[in-house]
Amino acid sequence: MYKIMTPGPTQVRENVRSARSLPCTNPDLDPDFYDFYKETCGLISELLETEHPAYILDGEGILGLEAACASLTEPGDRVLVVDNGVYGKGFADFVTMYGGVPEFYESPYTKAVDVEVFREYLKEHHDFKYATLVHCDTPSGVLNPVEELSLALHEYGIMTVVDSVSAMFGEPLRVDAGKIDIVCGGSQKALSAPPGLSFVTVSPAAMKAMESRKTPIASFYANILVFRDYYKNQWFPYTMPISDIYGLRAALENVRADEDRLRRHRELAGLTRRTVQEMGLSLYLEDGFSSTVTVIRVPEGMEAARILEAMKKEHGIMIAGSFDVLAGQVIRIGHMGENANQKDVKETLDALRAVIRKLREETP
Ligand SMILES: *Cc1c(COP(=O)(O)O)cnc(C)c1O
Repeated sequence: MYKIMTPGPTQVRENVRSARSLPCTNPDLDPDFYDFYKETCGLISELLETEHPAYILDGEGILGLEAACASLTEPGDRVLVVDNGVYGKGFADFVTMYGGVPEFYESPYTKAVDVEVFREYLKEHHDFKYATLVHCDTPSGVLNPVEELSLALHEYGIMTVVDSVSAMFGEPLRVDAGKIDIVCGGSQKALSAPPGLSFVTVSPAAMKAMESRKTPIASFYANILVFRDYYKNQWFPYTMPISDIYGLRAALENVRADEDRLRRHRELAGLTRRTVQEMGLSLYLEDGFSSTVTVIRVPEGMEAARILEAMKKEHGIMIAGSFDVLAGQVIRIGHMGENANQKDVKETLDALRAVIRKLREETP
């Protein structure tokens, strides 16, 4: 068994694993399960500081992103896709898939989107139904000021979809204060439940946009609207994964009980950045560091794969490479959720120091 220090999936605490082994009822027929699901959704809304209802969907983190786009996009809709990272750009695929017309707002991958520059752009370009934003774009680790960006978009009546899968619970996120219409989360990042679930919170405006569509939503599984009256009708669109939801609930309660959580994420992220720089390594980003993940450039003459392999083989620790345009260029330490503890972060940094030293000795 490796020590998991990747930016998702993350370590899972024993009480979450135990909750997943509780006896199962028939989740379609048992009124108690409808209450349990609703309370669990209520806890998500509470932790994200929103009055909007949350819905747990049976699919890994990506499903929430697709469901938001599938449910909001009608053929021909113009959608602003804020692209300063791999996930940011990736939203355009979902927009296109459901007939929308994406317009890219491009910003350098090595820094957070600048709110003032974005505001200037919006003055001339604001004919969009909604915009997609990424809170922490995990492949590069950049953290965007999504609340401020969303408020700027709302001045032009543009709805907002925010992917906070790898930021929420490790970084502050206030959905109502930022007027975020749909926020997407997943079970396997800072929440530290196993992969398998996504969830969304939905504003009244976003729900209304789904209800008043001229064309039906071109999906069943990625249709948020079918969840709207589940409690009133005591009916789920498909059988809910009850054990996954028991685990998710325990993980959410762990988050709620952990008052020191955000401070600890900030400190350990700071410690990680300082320590890797002391080793002579350089960070990928110029600014906009997320407290959930640190992204480090692979030193000249070294191979990412060899660093990761040595971390696993010699130290039993799993850290991550990256993908898409960043493949092979960086390595990533995920210090979010259960991974965000002094002991594991220090062990990981010590191991990395030893691995880098050894590889430097091998490289002429
Ligand atoms: C992890 C993650 C997701 C969920 O999808 P994966 O299949 O686990 O990649 C979505 N968005 C972001 C920003 C993520 O980090």
